[in-house]
Amino acid sequence: MNQEQVRIPQATAKRLPLYYRFLKNLHSSGKQRVSSAELSEAVKVDSATIRRDFSYFGALGKKGYGYNVNYLLSFFRKTLDQDELTKVALIGVGNLGTAFLHYNFLKNNNTKIELAFDVDENKVGSEIGNVPVYHMAEIETRLQEENVTVAILTVPAPAAQSITDRLIQADIKGILNFTPARLNVPSTIRIHHIDLAVELQSLVYFLKHYPVTAE
Ligand code: ATP
Repeated sequence: MNQEQVRIPQATAKRLPLYYRFLKNLHSSGKQRVSSAELSEAVKVDSATIRRDFSYFGALGKKGYGYNVNYLLSFFRKTLDQDELTKVALIGVGNLGTAFLHYNFLKNNNTKIELAFDVDENKVGSEIGNVPVYHMAEIETRLQEENVTVAILTVPAPAAQSITDRLIQADIKGILNFTPARLNVPSTIRIHHIDLAVELQSLVYFLKHYPVTAE
């Protein structure tokens, strides 16, 4: 994010991509303004939270008018660095990794997986979803040459920490970790964990113990 911009709370920052996606759809359907109630219904965030979030970036909705879609959209585009393409590397071209290589991340935001790495000789040298797969031996040089700062980890858990250490050496600043491994990194590196099995298990648990009831 841009250094000159105001620091917004992390919880607010996490909701920005959600708002951005919805506003982009509104904009393409020609809508000029939106109320916090409409936004709330669409993104499933309560409207008081939306109003508080928006107040951090100076978007003050007017009563009976709502928010200006164009203003919000250009704010989000700048804040989320949507004008600048972020190059991403993927490590581990297994089942999950292959699915990501086929997925078009550009559809919703300005990120693109540019390179992939694996140790499997059958995968190295191939192209999957137009992304070249290189051998792990080349990772430091390739990442530095391409100025990649974000990596997605879809390797087996036992390999995750040593690969992470190499990623840091190669100047990676952010890691989206899909392995169940909890990784140790210096405080200058940002890691987001997504453990699909845990998420699924937690959903099942909640359904069982906190059934959703109609209002
Ligand atoms: P597959 O069925 O293709 O093996 P998977 O997702 O079930 O996929 P995993 O064992 O989770 O397989 O491995 C994911 C990918 O990570 C595989 O392509 C594997 O070759 C690769 N991999 C394993 N160890 C490493 C490593 N040390 N560095 C980079 N890639 C690795």
